[in-house]
Amino acid sequence: MSTIAQNLQAIASTIVATAREAGRGADSVRLLAVSKTFGAEAVLEAVRAGQRAFGENYLQESLDKIVAVRAGLAAQPAEQAAAAALEWHFIGPIQSNKTRPIAEHFDWVHTVEREKIAQRLSEQRPDGMAPLNICLQVNISGEASKSGVAPAELAELARRVAALPKLRLRGLMAIPEPSEDYSAQRAAFAQLRQLYEQLRADGLALDTLSMGMSADLRAAVVEGATIVRVGSAIFGARHYAPAG
Ligand SMILES: *Cc1c(COP(=O)(O)O)cnc(C)c1O
Repeated sequence: MSTIAQNLQAIASTIVATAREAGRGADSVRLLAVSKTFGAEAVLEAVRAGQRAFGENYLQESLDKIVAVRAGLAAQPAEQAAAAALEWHFIGPIQSNKTRPIAEHFDWVHTVEREKIAQRLSEQRPDGMAPLNICLQVNISGEASKSGVAPAELAELARRVAALPKLRLRGLMAIPEPSEDYSAQRAAFAQLRQLYEQLRADGLALDTLSMGMSADLRAAVVEGATIVRVGSAIFGARHYAPAG
């Protein structure tokens, strides 16, 4: 078995065991494999191990990779079903002049933090494609330098985004301050969950909490993550960070 396949299996076991410990269903958490900086070959290896959802941060890199992965799967008739089931999630910062290719090539966007970006994604989502699934990124650490909408402005943004025709608002996403302390990790995720539960109580039909990465996966699952975004624990250490 390849290293990537072994890593995927190990993470799946961690997720299932942690969910059970927390009294959650084993299939209540989906794994998003974050493939940024890794090539199409690594993604194909993960696809052949059964992984279907991939997260990307850098637009140009991801567009090239989506084409290459599709071509790699098209070469094998037995892999057509896998190709059709692939999901691409954009999880990087979004510049407003780069929304069109995101609207055209992705299934999900986890990093919406402004109404203007959401409006553009909705306008640019091609007719005939399913609505673009959206998570709002929340700045739970409260630092001015950090990405994400401030918790105090979240409810208003959520109402406006939920009203856009070609988008489907699914939930919230956050990247807390890195901490090695398990209870600090849990406290940050609990904050996001509370915001999520408040929006649901206010009547928004949300079903997604996108939180947890390689280093804080267990804390996120215990606090209710429905999507965990895991990169290095699957693909290995990243050696570069391309621009754009
Ligand atoms: C890179 C990245 C991840 C994955 O991080 P790892 O620590 O490699 O698991 C998850 N979410 C976002 C938004 C990222 O940019």
